[in-house]
Amino acid sequence: MRALRHLSLPLVLVALAACGREAPPPTGSVISGHENPLLAQWQTEFEVPPFDLIKNEHYLPAIREGMARHKQEIDSIVANPEPATFANTIEALERSGAPYARASRVFGAVTGANTNDTLQDVERTLAPEEAAHRDDILLNAGLYQRVKAVYDGRDSLGLNPEQLMLLEETNKQFVRSGAALPDSAKARLKEINKEIAELSQKFSENVLDETNAYDLHVTDTTDLGDLPAGLVELAAAEAKRRGHDAGWSVTLQRPSINPFLESSTNRALRKNIFDGYAMRGDNDNERDNKTILSRMAALRAERARLLGYATHAAYVLSDNMAETPERVMGLLDQVWRPALEVAKSERTDMQTLMNAEGVAGTLEGPDWRHYTERVRREKYALDQQALLPYFEVKAVRDGVFMVANKLYGLTFVERSDLPRWHPDQQVFEVKEADGSHLGVLYMDFFARPSKQGGAWMNELQEQSRLDGEKDPIVTTNFNFPAPTSEGVSLITFDDALTLAHECGHALHGLLSDVTYESLSGTNVARDFVEFGSQIMENWMEEPEVLRLYAKHYQTGEVIPDELVDKLQASATFNQGFITVEFVAAAYLDMAWHSLTEPVEKEARAFEKAEMDRIGLIPEIIPRYRSAYFSHIFAGGYSAGYYAYLWAEVLDKDAFQAFVEAGDLFDPATAKRLRDEILSKGGTRRGMELYRAFRGRDPSIEPLLKGRGLLK
Ligand SMILES: [Zn+2]
Repeated sequence: MRALRHLSLPLVLVALAACGREAPPPTGSVISGHENPLLAQWQTEFEVPPFDLIKNEHYLPAIREGMARHKQEIDSIVANPEPATFANTIEALERSGAPYARASRVFGAVTGANTNDTLQDVERTLAPEEAAHRDDILLNAGLYQRVKAVYDGRDSLGLNPEQLMLLEETNKQFVRSGAALPDSAKARLKEINKEIAELSQKFSENVLDETNAYDLHVTDTTDLGDLPAGLVELAAAEAKRRGHDAGWSVTLQRPSINPFLESSTNRALRKNIFDGYAMRGDNDNERDNKTILSRMAALRAERARLLGYATHAAYVLSDNMAETPERVMGLLDQVWRPALEVAKSERTDMQTLMNAEGVAGTLEGPDWRHYTERVRREKYALDQQALLPYFEVKAVRDGVFMVANKLYGLTFVERSDLPRWHPDQQVFEVKEADGSHLGVLYMDFFARPSKQGGAWMNELQEQSRLDGEKDPIVTTNFNFPAPTSEGVSLITFDDALTLAHECGHALHGLLSDVTYESLSGTNVARDFVEFGSQIMENWMEEPEVLRLYAKHYQTGEVIPDELVDKLQASATFNQGFITVEFVAAAYLDMAWHSLTEPVEKEARAFEKAEMDRIGLIPEIIPRYRSAYFSHIFAGGYSAGYYAYLWAEVLDKDAFQAFVEAGDLFDPATAKRLRDEILSKGGTRRGMELYRAFRGRDPSIEPLLKGRGLLK
């Protein structure tokens, strides 16, 4: 995921010490007098945020002051007596709000990765204020008049393609926000936006609180099954943290619950935690999200109508590569049918194994992950745990750096002297092949209660050169298991792909080479943005690349051929389940956002009706149930969860260009990928960029083949 527009963690002294280096104390940032560090000129190297000086109490006043200055700038654009021009209106808008954007980017990054009660309060206070600020700009009649005047005269202005794109996108943003509507409709839009912002904030707090409230306290060691030793140690520490004298606490964080579901042979405990996970936000308690999300869907339907669209999905998709809900549903249907059949045959295999082992009855949802691992061992002789030692987080990180080096010549130099928001965070200066500075990359790897779930990337500074060169500063965030007392964090192969994924987003931000910030890096259509991230995953799966980075954390031994072969042979195993849980969630998202009437639906019944319609089997639940579907109710992915699959069509097809070239690091193909797509940001439409790279439209075949869905 990516932040805000796209959603989705930090590094510690323990880990640094483990790689044989003591982290020197941060150099320390200098700010004059008693100025709020968020508003001051940053004296740090590369102008990175002075995290060591920024305290909880700085955010609210800085962001409010930023908004006030932004408003003044807008007022002076509107009051300009000169006729509207590209420079005095569009570029002036592009320059406006810089201190506000800078402070809120830092705030967004820190609250995502290292929040606390105070910061949550600030978020609650700011959500409606920021929504209102945005509306004040985008619904400002005088401002829109000037934008429209420039837009209407666009053919005679002699603008270059990037300027023309900026103009089109600026005008479109105003129209899509309601700037062309009558005043009564604008007033209602403002109310709707404010209420959605408050509900979304509450939704996300409820998910975090429901996740943290659950604790499966295990007291009998046999109930842990064959849980890896590192995770047993973490579970024991978690039990202490939660006030238990002894035993192990398993939590609803994915690195805790998933291995437990895979390992434990105690069906009752598996059911307890599975239900705990699936029922978050749906427990009819004070943290229930059902009414909140139904209200949000109804408000979005009402807003779409005001803006002239049949549904919220139609509104959202009109600004994406997919363009219409019909095209999204077409893609989902095309993948759903074969995937459901494959999932059913996976179920049969597991049911047979379960009964053969003497466990009576029918396989259920809480059994799926456990028997998946059993079948994986039986059929492919692949033990996931045997893989773990080859995927220590630093080895995988260096593997991703190596791929970026082979493709684009980039190098990554660790800079433990730069300020960080958490001691676990790692910071790297990214350099071009010739040694020149490209940007800064932060990596925050480990799960902790102050961090939201999942993985994501955000930008602290976007590349641009409107007023001198601004170099990109990007962050990547993950929820990998915290290092053991030896400083070791072993991650799964899936986690390794996640690491590559977020670094893919980071590269998209780092390699940006455009003039205007609004069109920079990952500022592209949502169903195109996952291309830059997902394409990186392809290299990490290739045997020749695995042999370069997957090395045993103790011995340094390269992953044995036997394990690589097994990984290859089982590559499409369980893809029925993975595809079905994903596509079911995508359908659910589309259902909530295809309401033609602004009516609040009863969430449980609504979800069940949609899952019955698509024929979802009861052993699988959607990857996100409505009440904790943060992508769509607390992130920027409403009517957009399909985007990962859409982008996978592109990335699987694009990777074939390297396969066809006969060299996974073919320099000409890599240069084309960088020049035609990754450096271009949003200066051209996604499909145009894709065609410029590939010379043709994408084919869905590589995706279906890759998932074992093509017979
Ligand atoms: Zn992503």
